[in-house]
Amino acid sequence: MSSNFDLVKRFPWLPSLITYYSDIGSGDILKFIRDISNSETFKIVKNRIINLFDEAFNNIEEMSIYEADESNIYIYLFVRILLYIFDNRKISNRVANLYSKTTYKELNKENEYNLYYIYKDLKLEVLYEKIPTVYKTRVLKGQRETISTNFKINFIDYLKLASTLKDENRRLVNNALMEGYVYIQPKNLNRLIQEHVRVKLLTHSNRYPNKLEELFDIKEFKDLYDEITEIWDRKKEEFEYSFDVKFKEGEDMSEILPPCIKEILSKAKDGHNLIHTERLFIVWFLNALEYPVDIIVDIFSTLPDFNREKTEYQVKFAKKKKYTPYSCQTLKSNGLCKAIEYKDVLCLEGYYSKIQEKQRDLSHPLGYVRIKQYRSSKIKINTPNMISKKNE
Ligand code: SF4
Repeated sequence: MSSNFDLVKRFPWLPSLITYYSDIGSGDILKFIRDISNSETFKIVKNRIINLFDEAFNNIEEMSIYEADESNIYIYLFVRILLYIFDNRKISNRVANLYSKTTYKELNKENEYNLYYIYKDLKLEVLYEKIPTVYKTRVLKGQRETISTNFKINFIDYLKLASTLKDENRRLVNNALMEGYVYIQPKNLNRLIQEHVRVKLLTHSNRYPNKLEELFDIKEFKDLYDEITEIWDRKKEEFEYSFDVKFKEGEDMSEILPPCIKEILSKAKDGHNLIHTERLFIVWFLNALEYPVDIIVDIFSTLPDFNREKTEYQVKFAKKKKYTPYSCQTLKSNGLCKAIEYKDVLCLEGYYSKIQEKQRDLSHPLGYVRIKQYRSSKIKINTPNMISKKNE
């Protein structure tokens, strides 16, 4: 079993940080930045921070350097303050996603004793029972499997942790709740803590200085900030266009996608979490348009809980099953229709059907693509005539 002190080095976001490092956990931030920037450790800290930002900008799925030493604490505190200074949603989401995903992987390496102390440190009402409780059974390929756990968490703490995760399987009604406690496996609880860490990185401390110039007066810190800015400037253009959706080599599809799809792609691009219905819809929709599996998988790679293998399996499975994407009516009742927000004329006013000789409502997002494709092909066909007419 590790001491709490070691756990803080491994997980510097733990509240115990203040106990062991009272000077940096609750002291003057400016003094802390100045002291570390002028210390011998700074070179290591700086390299690891730059590496972390670079990996986040490059959409790497796990931090390549994560060492449980004192520098790890400095890095965490520097990263929080850098995110506050950058004040850029895209940067913050990317870094917070990468950091929290790495946290999840690190938590899963801990034994049950350490996990118990981590949960307690977070002031969670978690109980550990020596004898595991069987709380679920499932049948997989004809085999009956029982699921048991030694951990249970008070349902109020569970709800607090799960409040930002909208997946169906995390709703309280879909979990084993007995006498006020939710029976939960450590890896599922760690996933909730991953989210806690992600949100914490996106939340600014009120101890941060109002005058940023004071921080930029520290040369080493300013150099670090400038280096990260330079990497971001090089990367951001590529990042802006990384979701130009194409299903035929060289053909840009982004203009003919409906608002409901554009909205989900934009959320994914910014690293926001997607609810289960949004995930299913985007996969079924892009599969219906025969997008390559790797392009669909890449869209999910910015999400906080991305797992390449699992996503690839799910996309391929959905493709094999040929699931039909949701209709406009279903999307509207799920609050996923974005016609009004995007002021989209085709979605709002419908289209004129030549066969039925009347205006019709749009009933399906795939219909949107077809109509847009048809209209753009008409423009292309008409263009030569228009040019030749102009030249007549
Ligand atoms: S009307 Fe249909 S296609 Fe248009 S945004 Fe709403 S759900 Fe999507």
